[in-house]
Amino acid sequence: MNPSNVLDEIHHEADTSEDDVDDSEKCSVCKLFTPAELKYCICLTLVKWAQCDVFDSWVHLKFCTPVQVLRRGDQFLCPKCASKEK
Ligand SMILES: [Zn+2]
Ligand SMILES: [Zn+2]
Repeated sequence: MNPSNVLDEIHHEADTSEDDVDDSEKCSVCKLFTPAELKYCICLTLVKWAQCDVFDSWVHLKFCTPVQVLRRGDQFLCPKCASKEK
């Protein structure tokens, strides 16, 4: 199991201004760059992102989708697209 296969991004809250972030780089579910839950967390938290196969939009894993882990090559639908599929 190679850890580099997992899409990981560390976002440093201190040097990230929400205003400077392009909409396309924000989560399509919560519309935020950093999950609201992490706003109040002073610890450095690893936020994982998943890209929706339909809209190429990004979603916070674990926070904005029930999906916790995604491996490269896995199909992923954001909650919006997943609900449309049903
Ligand atoms: Zn989110
Ligand atoms: Zn989607």
